[in-house]
Amino acid sequence: MSGRKAFALILAGVLLGGCAAAAARPVVTDVRTGEHVGLTRLVLDVTEKVDFHTFTLADPYRVVVDLSQVDWRVAPGKGDRKGVISGLRFAQFDRRTSRVVIDVREPVKVRKAFLLPPRGKLAYRFVIDIAPVDEASFANSMGAPKKWVERAAKSSPPEPPRKSAVKRVVVLDPGHGGVDPGAIGVSGVQEKTVTLSAARELKKILERTGRYDVILTRNSDRFLRLRDRVAKAREAGAHLFVSVHADSIRRRGVRGASIYTLSEKASDAEAAALAAKENKADLLGGVPLEEVGDEVVEAILIDVAQRDTMNRSAGFANIALPELGKRVRTLRNGHRFAGFAVLKAPEVPSVLVEMGYLSNRRDERMLSTAKGRRPVLEALAKAIDRYFAEIDIAGVGG
Ligand code: ZN
Repeated sequence: MSGRKAFALILAGVLLGGCAAAAARPVVTDVRTGEHVGLTRLVLDVTEKVDFHTFTLADPYRVVVDLSQVDWRVAPGKGDRKGVISGLRFAQFDRRTSRVVIDVREPVKVRKAFLLPPRGKLAYRFVIDIAPVDEASFANSMGAPKKWVERAAKSSPPEPPRKSAVKRVVVLDPGHGGVDPGAIGVSGVQEKTVTLSAARELKKILERTGRYDVILTRNSDRFLRLRDRVAKAREAGAHLFVSVHADSIRRRGVRGASIYTLSEKASDAEAAALAAKENKADLLGGVPLEEVGDEVVEAILIDVAQRDTMNRSAGFANIALPELGKRVRTLRNGHRFAGFAVLKAPEVPSVLVEMGYLSNRRDERMLSTAKGRRPVLEALAKAIDRYFAEIDIAGVGG
């Protein structure tokens, strides 16, 4: 968003409003849309307080926002077509109401609508959060106008995450362990050792903030089945699961970090091969095949229950990759998808981080010391902070 531009428009609005004297109505001076984890947010800058209510309509899917009368002074084509929003229209509905119609691509629900009071250079901001829902819940909530009186009256900004009394539970999963060493580096460094040290260090960084309860799936050199790692995350009620790994590849020149989220369809052959390799960990531990089987049934269940979780996981990856990129080398298409067994907790957003390549001499050296690992881990800690901050602002729980 462009704060300066919004400010200029507000100034223009104020000046114009001044000329119109007593007849001045609140002016919508800017509109912005943004995609957050699992939802689309639309913000209207408005010069004064407005009343509002919202409702949804089908054929085609729309969200309607009725505001007390406002003047619309927004450049055409601003703020539309992001996330679920496919278009935006504005009209005077009657003598007391101005109407904003938000065209959406699929059934949605208004998660929240509220008015933020002026702050700094910003005027009032009307905020509406829209999230996809299934047909049934759409049908249930359709039509009935929702007044959002309480929220509007309170008009308090969303709680900053740092004041949140409830700690988030982050489960860190050091890859491999025990009989399963994972990848072996060019000079013999074992992945299972690197991942355990990294997870312990990341735990410390996160705990220092006072915002997280951090649990490790293993805190010693022992073998742990993939499904037990998933079970630990679920039992702990994890808000986020981060499996920590370091890759190896035949081409020794390849280096850099990457991040993986779950998908039944791999984004590319390399991601598929990596998932297959990581999923073999259970076999190395001598677990009979049938215990890691029923993939087909699992795939169907995942398709239904996990879409929201998968969106959130991808949301985290989209935050983490640029953070990693600021501090360390990352792969060119550093966010990839594949069917990792360890990422299959249906309700826990989960990612797998490959911190680098042990098959590369420089990456191996970097990942072998606490000092070398530090930039990667700080990037992840920063990403975790940002991920939960966005959830808090979006107000969708975590
Ligand atoms: Zn691994």
